[in-house]
Amino acid sequence: MTKYLNEIIDILNKEYGDADCTLNYEDTLQLLIATQLAAQCTDARVNIVMVDLVKKYPDVYAFANADLSELMDDIHSTGFYRNKAKNIIACCKKIISDFEGKVPGNMKDLLTLPGVGRKTANLILGDAFGIPGIVVDTHAGRLARRMGLTKNTDPTKVEFDLLKIIPKEHQTLFCHQLVEHGRKYCKSQRPYCEHCPLNEICKKRGL
Ligand code: SF4
Repeated sequence: MTKYLNEIIDILNKEYGDADCTLNYEDTLQLLIATQLAAQCTDARVNIVMVDLVKKYPDVYAFANADLSELMDDIHSTGFYRNKAKNIIACCKKIISDFEGKVPGNMKDLLTLPGVGRKTANLILGDAFGIPGIVVDTHAGRLARRMGLTKNTDPTKVEFDLLKIIPKEHQTLFCHQLVEHGRKYCKSQRPYCEHCPLNEICKKRGL
């Protein structure tokens, strides 16, 4: 596995050395809000919505005190707006009441926030706090299975499988690279294997 994994990491580094989060944000709270909005929505759509959203709600207090139906209107185009708006308000209220108005920088506290699961928490930790972790979104899970890095479909099990084999220093970047690779080649319905830079590696493993 080590040689195989190193080959994958080398190719991904060559192809997507500067892969990064594709959500736009200027601070940790904005990243947290954008990540919540990104559930079942494209990052491109979230980035558009966030432009006006952060002007209207410039800090955690503004989000915590938002009018629910107004916030639902503001984020309507991201889908699932009712739950997202409720979670954003509740999440910001908790950040104020329990964490002095600052997004916490550890998994245990992040998981107490409404609407925040391990995927969001790992993304915040990796991108805002520089703490390595594995973010398992739909691309990362699918690609990890196709590459034979896990057999699991449950995102938490995939996360722990990858944590065991991906070196810490590669973890955050690796997940961003999987997202880029999933969007470009290893698509859900029809992977472009013939043009994919990982083609030889996948072939060797009979994939
Ligand atoms: S060769 Fe096909 S299955 Fe393997 S990573 Fe590329 S697109 Fe995905």
